[in-house]
Amino acid sequence: MRRRSRTRRLLTWVGTVICVLILGPWALSYWWSVGYVGPSWDCQLLAGVVVYHSGISWGCTGWAFGDVPRGLFRDAPLIPAVGRSSVGITACFPLWLPLAVFGVPTGVFWWHAWREHCRIPPGHCQHCGYDLTGNVSGQCPECGTPVPSDGREQAGQG
Ligand SMILES: [Zn+2]
Repeated sequence: MRRRSRTRRLLTWVGTVICVLILGPWALSYWWSVGYVGPSWDCQLLAGVVVYHSGISWGCTGWAFGDVPRGLFRDAPLIPAVGRSSVGITACFPLWLPLAVFGVPTGVFWWHAWREHCRIPPGHCQHCGYDLTGNVSGQCPECGTPVPSDGREQAGQG
């Protein structure tokens, strides 16, 4: 029980770090593009998409930076795509995919952590947190929420 919650906390942080590492370049790529040009290929990140070309020789290699034209936003592919041309291949990989893959479980972990943190201890009204010790009316005197039976509380702990 203890170890599981520690693992979950670790996963939460790892997931958050990965999300930030993806989210940062992803957001910035809408303003600036960054790429690397190889001998016969180039790979760049722009408008939220990683684009890879092969078969094109630029005559020089190295890092390349630039502004992203506004019109490119509309043309940016939303799903991964690979195309063949006469000289090589073009592959597009939108960054929202890994962001979703890591972001959704991380969000769920955060949600669980938040719920754990805000959880109202047994014996208290699960709606407003009022101490229901000795309460026999079956209803919270503070907010009127029906009090669940003890058996259900215990079952939830397993
Ligand atoms: Zn209440």
